[in-house]
Amino acid sequence: MLLPHNPNAFTRSPLDRAGHRRNDADWLAGALVASETRLIPFHNNRPFVIEEGGAIALGWLGAHARVGIAPADAPLLFLGLDAGAVAHFAIDIPDPAPLEGIGRFDDLRSFGAILPRADLPILGTAKSVFEWHAKHKFCANCGAATRIVEAGWKRECAACKGEHFPRFDPVVIMVPVIGDKCLLGRQRAWPPGMHSALAGFVEPGEAIEEAVARETLEEAGLRVREVRLHSTQPWPFPHSLMIGVIAEVEAGEMVIDAHELESARWFTREEARLLLEGKLAGAFCPPPFAIAHQLLKSWVGGD
Ligand SMILES: [Zn+2]
Repeated sequence: MLLPHNPNAFTRSPLDRAGHRRNDADWLAGALVASETRLIPFHNNRPFVIEEGGAIALGWLGAHARVGIAPADAPLLFLGLDAGAVAHFAIDIPDPAPLEGIGRFDDLRSFGAILPRADLPILGTAKSVFEWHAKHKFCANCGAATRIVEAGWKRECAACKGEHFPRFDPVVIMVPVIGDKCLLGRQRAWPPGMHSALAGFVEPGEAIEEAVARETLEEAGLRVREVRLHSTQPWPFPHSLMIGVIAEVEAGEMVIDAHELESARWFTREEARLLLEGKLAGAFCPPPFAIAHQLLKSWVGGD
């Protein structure tokens, strides 16, 4: 895949991460008082948004606002530089009160699909890193409290000198196909009629292809004979990397795992096309925001 063509939400960030600045204390201090610097507040894993005339926009603040909305030790993340070399930061604030009346903190999952595409990778990065910080305040080596360093990209333990970096979870997500048919499943917790790709976490010691084969066999009883990588998607709920593949399976009887799936069914290419368009009676699939939609669309288009 050519890099500019990744179709997935949360990809193609407009920011250069400028990782070499994360350890540059003087440069960071300067950026945090520069008038053009932009700061996006988060509270409880929710970004700050402003609604005007029915449209929703990110609530970017100037860096000068930091002192008034957050204590000095609030988690701060250097996100990178835009094309004009303007520094962008995110800050996780413990109390939303100072921003009341200006906007609101809202769930990215609920409004992400209506934001400009370029905002999503910025928010997804900040949300994933802040969720990791919130769950890793203590050292996994020795149990002592850790502190944030490197502009939000690392935690350090003063007691044992341990270094801890933000983690994310690799997840395989696949559409099993054979000939002109593809398999989609549904989980009990989903809204009635919703069908989507199969998915599961990659386990330690597993290649991605092996995880696809294992999950497809476990969930649907089908053997995979070829794995084609389609695209990947950072998915900040809370911090996964979705690895999207088309999985060619061997002919065989489908046997679903009742713990994982409520049901699964085969769709012809034509049925899948109608499903994507929301025109198939009794069934629907995830919206374009989700990689499952893009995988299915690609297969329907002949990929
Ligand atoms: Zn330690």
